[in-house]
Amino acid sequence: MPPTRHPEGGGKPVTEQELWLRSMLVDKGVLSESGLTRNAGIRTCRTCRAQCLAGIACTGLDAWADLGQLHAVGELAALLAGRPTLSLFAGRQLVPRDRHWIRAYPAGAGQRPAYAAHRCGEPTPAEWQAITPRPAAATTEGMPF
Ligand SMILES: [Zn+2]
Repeated sequence: MPPTRHPEGGGKPVTEQELWLRSMLVDKGVLSESGLTRNAGIRTCRTCRAQCLAGIACTGLDAWADLGQLHAVGELAALLAGRPTLSLFAGRQLVPRDRHWIRAYPAGAGQRPAYAAHRCGEPTPAEWQAITPRPAAATTEGMPF
């Protein structure tokens, strides 16, 4: 049987066996309909083309978050703006942050990074994001040679 085109329009040829395997993985909850797994990874939003952190959350639903890590005030601003926040559990699975998570692992404290849920066309404002220190640029000033 000749390969068919990928149903999501990616142009990737898909055989009937691959489609069957995909449906089995979706049935078992290993893969979501949109192709996400429980291990979150960097994915491109199909609507706005933004790079996001995406995966099947512990709720069993697809979760998409903006990449910028929030600080505590940024998380509050995100929540007040109606954007849920998410963390990574064991560095892999996206978990919605509830009051228990927020209290136990404050955003920006370094234990569990917090991310704002993705909204197309509304990137996480820079003022909500924790500032990650950049290494000082190498300089030749003060060198004896
Ligand atoms: Zn988007």
